[in-house]
Order: sequence, then structure tokens, then C-alpha cells
Amino acid sequence: MSLSPIREDICRLGRSLFDRGYTHGTSGNISVLLDDGRMIVTPTDSSLGELDPATLTLLGSDGSTMDGRAPTKELPLHSALYRTRGAARAIVHLHSTHSVAASMLPDLDPADVFPPLTAYYLMKVGRTALLPYFRPGDPRVADAIDALAGRYSSILLANHGPVVSGLSLTAAGAAIEELEQTAKLYLLVGHRQANLLDITEASALRCD
Ligand SMILES: [Zn+2]
Repeated sequence: MSLSPIREDICRLGRSLFDRGYTHGTSGNISVLLDDGRMIVTPTDSSLGELDPATLTLLGSDGSTMDGRAPTKELPLHSALYRTRGAARAIVHLHSTHSVAASMLPDLDPADVFPPLTAYYLMKVGRTALLPYFRPGDPRVADAIDALAGRYSSILLANHGPVVSGLSLTAAGAAIEELEQTAKLYLLVGHRQANLLDITEASALRCD
């Protein structure tokens, strides 16, 4: 099976996210898990806006580097989420501004960070867990993700950023964009009393 289309899809999504301000500098990383257990992931210290299909990292099913540059230092995030979300085939992690800002607020519910503001958040994301702050690349973040036991496709790392898994790269990309826009809405609404979707409607729409 040629991996070229997948490599090109990762680079196209990275550029699209970068060009629209969802990520900046060399922050953020993207991976796709192949059916045979190998993984294609963005390299360390690379801008999502300037990815090269030829230098993306190919990891074997044992985690060893088979091809390309050294993988992102945040690989433990990806490995842990794939390990606990069996059907996941793609993961996107960003340091997107509104999600990071929301992650710093006090009194968030770590089991369900955002209230039911819109139908599309519930349909594309469902529910978001909040994990405490870990230094980027700290392997203990994998233990925290393991403890979520695969219940969440969407996770917000405090003072760091969101990480979202999907059944496909397209789905993961769409979900993390929806999450970022939800965080923006959440910040815009602030502490005003917003009219939320009612519990029956929210339960009917949630994708998780
Ligand atoms: Zn990060």
C-alpha cells in the first residue's frame, strides 16, 4: 500500500490549520495510525505549515523509527490515545489560542469541560476531558490518558492545548476545529448566563 496519499493528507491538513491560525511556530502535531500498527507522525521541531511528505516520521508497530526525521517529542500523547481509543486512526494536537485560554480558567469540570453551547460541538466532539498540566513531552501524560480509559476522543491539557482523536484524519481535523471554536464561544459568553441546549437535546446529539 502506498503511503503517499496519507503523507500528503497530513501535510495538507497541517498547512490548512497553520494558514488559518489554529497553530503557530513549531507547535502542534498530527498522526495517522495504519491498520498494520505502523504510525505516520509529524517530526519534532517542524511547522505544521511547512511539512514535507518525504520527511514525516514512519514508526513501526513497536514504536521504532523506520523512516524520516525523529518524531515529535509529544509522541506519548498520540501513543496513549491510540492505545485507549481502539477505533481511532488519526490524532491532531494543537496549541490553539482559545482552547489554551479556556484550559486556564478556574472551576472547569474535568469530566466535561464545555457546556452544551451548540449542536455541532456535541455532534463532532461530544465531551471534553481536562487533564492537569504536564511539561510537554512528559511521559506521565500517557498515564493520565490511560486513566481516562478511552472514554474521551477529546482532551484538553491544562495550560497547553487540545488533543483530539478521530476515525479518520478528516474527522479528527474537523473535531479539533469545532473544539477550538467552542472554546472561543465559551470565552465570548464568559460568566454571563447563556441559554444552553437542554439536557434531552444534548444527550440526543452527543457523538460519544
Ligand atoms: Zn503540545
